[in-house]
Amino acid sequence: MKSAAEIEILCRVATARMPTKWGMFNAAGFERAANGTQIDTALALTMGDLSGEAPLLRIHSQCFTGEGLGSLRCDCSDQLSMAMRAIAAEGHGLVIYEYQEGRGIGLMAKLQAYELQDSGIDTVEANHVLGFRADCRDYSLPVAILRELGVHRVRLLTNNPAKARALSDAGIEVVARIPCEAKSSPYSLPYLRTKKEKMAHALGLPHHDGTGQIKDLRALEAASPHALHWI
Ligand SMILES: [Zn+2]
Repeated sequence: MKSAAEIEILCRVATARMPTKWGMFNAAGFERAANGTQIDTALALTMGDLSGEAPLLRIHSQCFTGEGLGSLRCDCSDQLSMAMRAIAAEGHGLVIYEYQEGRGIGLMAKLQAYELQDSGIDTVEANHVLGFRADCRDYSLPVAILRELGVHRVRLLTNNPAKARALSDAGIEVVARIPCEAKSSPYSLPYLRTKKEKMAHALGLPHHDGTGQIKDLRALEAASPHALHWI
């Protein structure tokens, strides 16, 4: 719960057309002073009429390594693509893209966490070694943006039940949680397994023997198809 002093006014900075390979979105930039010194920033990428029945919503955190560098250590880039493709297919919906790296810890700390993971510990343990919680997000900025846009009911594209609960607790009705599961790779599988086992993400992952070695890459491909699963 934020104190009254921490609750700042949401400011819409600009809105511009954003043609993408999936279709024409509008990009609205929002800023909010978080604690008097830090400015939180997010984009709302919207398509179509959002006043209708529960539009698709993806709340997505920036991942420079995945989205900019093509890193295969995580599934962020594929999840963003799947969400934008799904919204374009329906003709309406939105992505709220939070300008924060590494679930809120920043790019340098994320790289330090990767360095620790290369020595054998998992993403949650690495965050703890660096003095961070496993997930530093609180979703108050996306909630403020949804209210500003007049969106009160959504179908949420996520594998993270905690994200759906956070929205519900803030008064945004989540009428459906729609899985957004990307194909895993040998590089992303340890990260995804940690998200499943320690952060309760709803993921269907291929079996492996726990030694870090995947027994059959073709089985991995078959077990985690590169598709959006609808409920
Ligand atoms: Zn990522």
